[in-house]
Amino acid sequence: MRKKIIAGNWKMNKTPNEALALCQSLKEQVNSQEVDVVFCVPFVDLYPVLEAVKGSSIAVGAQNMFYEDSGAFTGEISPAMLTEMGVKYVIIGHSERRQYFAETDETVNKKLKKALEHGLIPIMCCGETLEQREQGITIEFVRMQIKAGLQGISKEKAEGIIIAYEPIWAIGTGKTATAQQAQEVCQAIRQVLEELFGADTAQKMRIQYGGSVNEKNAAELFAMPDIDGGLVGGASLKPEFAQIVQYK
Ligand code: PEP
Repeated sequence: MRKKIIAGNWKMNKTPNEALALCQSLKEQVNSQEVDVVFCVPFVDLYPVLEAVKGSSIAVGAQNMFYEDSGAFTGEISPAMLTEMGVKYVIIGHSERRQYFAETDETVNKKLKKALEHGLIPIMCCGETLEQREQGITIEFVRMQIKAGLQGISKEKAEGIIIAYEPIWAIGTGKTATAQQAQEVCQAIRQVLEELFGADTAQKMRIQYGGSVNEKNAAELFAMPDIDGGLVGGASLKPEFAQIVQYK
């Protein structure tokens, strides 16, 4: 039985003081033993948020990192900088980074390998555009993203990776994939994982759905057999996030 994982992606929201206030308001209600809860916050909020969630079961994640250990990469953050602070998770290849910051499957793969080398748990994002869905190539495209992103990763390392299926047309738009649409793609993702790493590993790996998850649709989405929780954007900044975590 896979434990559900619900991660909030705060994106570029909340100054350090605002982040503290949000943690104070959510901390008690999202401090769950039943599901894994992660706050993926902007770099400058990592320290205050790590301090604020101390003593709870909430874990902290970054929203990006670079694929080198150190060096002349102005403006970038290394995996060791994150782990030394106590960060456990890192989102890799979010569609906004692919769209605005030229991330490719190749950089996603490099970042994934580097994150694993440092013991970070990657949340690797994938998902199709509206155009691709309308062309009927969703599964083919997502299969390709998964294969490219996970190229050269061993079965042992793969087990710890979280995959987030996020149809781009559903991110921040208020349009959620139906539970059936989301399940269909998550099942196809598990099928690729099985082809790559074998059935045992594929059954252990967690696959999240992301795209306008809210307190109303969370329970139905998370009840699907291949959906092991959610990556939540907008709603992770609101009191409703507590209801998403307590989705049952
Ligand atoms: C996201 O940022 O990963 C996301 C799914 O955003 P939203 O929930 O706002 O659609």
